[in-house]
Amino acid sequence: MKMPPFELYVPSSLDEALEKASELNDSGEEFDWIAGGTDLLPNYKWHINVKRHVISLSGIEELVTLSGTHIGSMVKVHDLATSDVTHNVLAKAANSIASVMIRRSGTVGGNICLDTRCFWFNQSEGWRESIDWCYKCDCGTEADCRVIPNQNTLCVATYQADLAPVLLCLGATIHLASPSGTRSMPLSEFFELDGITRNVLEPGELVTHLTLPEEAMEWDGDYQKLRQRDSWDFPEAGVAVLWKSDSSGNPSSLRVATTGLESIPGIHIEEAEAAIADWRGKDSVDELAESIRKAVKPVQNTWFPPSYRRKMVKVLTKRACSELLVR
Ligand SMILES: Cc1cc2nc3c(=O)[nH]c(=O)nc-3n(C[C@H](O)[C@H](O)[C@H](O)COP(=O)(O)OP(=O)(O)OC[C@H]3O[C@@H](n4cnc5c(N)ncnc54)[C@H](O)[C@@H]3O)c2cc1C
Ligand code: SF4
Repeated sequence: MKMPPFELYVPSSLDEALEKASELNDSGEEFDWIAGGTDLLPNYKWHINVKRHVISLSGIEELVTLSGTHIGSMVKVHDLATSDVTHNVLAKAANSIASVMIRRSGTVGGNICLDTRCFWFNQSEGWRESIDWCYKCDCGTEADCRVIPNQNTLCVATYQADLAPVLLCLGATIHLASPSGTRSMPLSEFFELDGITRNVLEPGELVTHLTLPEEAMEWDGDYQKLRQRDSWDFPEAGVAVLWKSDSSGNPSSLRVATTGLESIPGIHIEEAEAAIADWRGKDSVDELAESIRKAVKPVQNTWFPPSYRRKMVKVLTKRACSELLVR
């Protein structure tokens, strides 16, 4: 499909990028940040919420730092997946994203800020027009949500990015910058339930980097993913389970987080605490898997039906815990 025209700016420093953002904000012009473009540009080609101005982050050296505890937003997914300094579960999740070509362009910041997805929305303009649009892309028609009609206050499009659940379990902090300053917060506070706003970013604000606590490397664990084609598809469900073990090999701390099931990634604190409060090996894993299945609430807007995705969450949780039982 033909790319609609837009004005592209390529600043060479963070200050320059924020200055351009401020200028566009002040003149009432909307814009998008672009990192690798592997999500934004396919959406633009489908004429989905195109902006007239786009600011590229590709020339900003400050955003590409990668260490065991610091992940710049412009670090390529491929570099995260293959670096020796990356936590092994984070590397596994990164390596499961899309295909090798997309991982070489796609970035960590773009992955965290990935637009939510819905099969009524991720379609060509002609297709969306034929169903008279939907709330997220109403084109001025005040169209209804196709998934949960008669409410038009909440878009329930699905968050289908792979890095967030592992980063949530590792206790990541996200760092933002805008023309009015910088702020940081636990990653769990970054996401917003509405599939249109998606996160707390204000106009002109961007993600600069994520940090992990020094003790992040002490966590063992696994990431398991359901998708239609293993070669490149988005997660239809993703489960990260991370733990620290005591001297007898039982988990002394346990964290579980999911993706691909709701409009935000979820961290399941109560379910994980209940499992380790009375650890009984396989029985506890079975109970944990069932409680995660009950906790997630997928809707009918991705490839697989919600009932199948919930069933598979149980399977994925058990698979992610399998290393816990071979001690
Ligand atoms: C065929 C295909 C398969 C895919 N499969 C997967 C998959 O399996 N798992 C998965 O997780 N993803 C998948 N993706 C999505 C995407 O490729 C990755 O998530 C990638 O990491 C996105 O990064 P990007 O730099 O290309 O983002 P971009 O397209 O540049 O940006 C994505 C969004 O984030 C915003 N943004 C980017 N950087 C910042 C920043 N620093 N601060 C604020 N906002 C920012 C942009 O404005 C845009 O809204 C797939 C994509 C395709 C085309
Ligand atoms: S959840 Fe509803 S409003 Fe959101 S993209 Fe899908 S149909 Fe549109």
